[in-house]
Amino acid sequence: MKKFAVAIDGPSGAGKSSIAKALAKKLNIIYVDTGAIYRTVGLYVYRHNVDSKDEDSIIAMLSDISVSLDYVDGVQHIFLNGEDVSDLIRTETISRYASDVSAIPEVRAFLLNLQRDMAKENSVIMDGRDIGTVVLPDAEVKIFLTASAEVRARRRFKELTEKGETVTFDEVLAAIITRDRNDSSRATAPLKAADDAVILDNSDINASETLDRVIDIIRSKTAE
Ligand code: C5P
Repeated sequence: MKKFAVAIDGPSGAGKSSIAKALAKKLNIIYVDTGAIYRTVGLYVYRHNVDSKDEDSIIAMLSDISVSLDYVDGVQHIFLNGEDVSDLIRTETISRYASDVSAIPEVRAFLLNLQRDMAKENSVIMDGRDIGTVVLPDAEVKIFLTASAEVRARRRFKELTEKGETVTFDEVLAAIITRDRNDSSRATAPLKAADDAVILDNSDINASETLDRVIDIIRSKTAE
């Protein structure tokens, strides 16, 4: 089959990464989790005690940051200056840092080619906020996966408590609403569906039904 790209965008907690991971396995193609890339920059800023809204200091730090991706048994690992930080980036604090640093246009420009290069040589499923609009505007398949803030907070709360993080549902919901607002209102590459994206709201369907719908969308788009 000829090389193709699937772009999955949508707000936090819509289930993009679970769907994308399952699809990548099924289709035997690479999954690129672009949120992890922003989280890695967020982790660097956090570790250097720089405020996540201090744009000038963050821009000045970019030349010291090297982010790279590698795949071990088909699973993405992400490296910050050579250190595997794949697990360290999955905390609520780093979610907030990622959301703040991602609003800085220089940060987005810095990370653009890394994301595009992944799709140059390989068929990919890439998830994020601006994949269909900015990173891969020519992707063969574009899906905007969404769900209500309450449903997304419930899923995220379950995930965090299962990992042993101590959070309340209200805190998780508030964080989701703040991140939605940040991601949708920023001037550069805001979260929005591409004009040619298929919008899929999975508030009332489970993960396996979501996967079936996404597979149907991919089949119909790649057959066109
Ligand atoms: O998807 P994930 O929650 O890991 O992303 C972390 C943050 O990175 C998001 O809240 C968003 O602000 C930012 N992001 C982005 N563009 C992307 C992927 C993630 O701005 N393509």
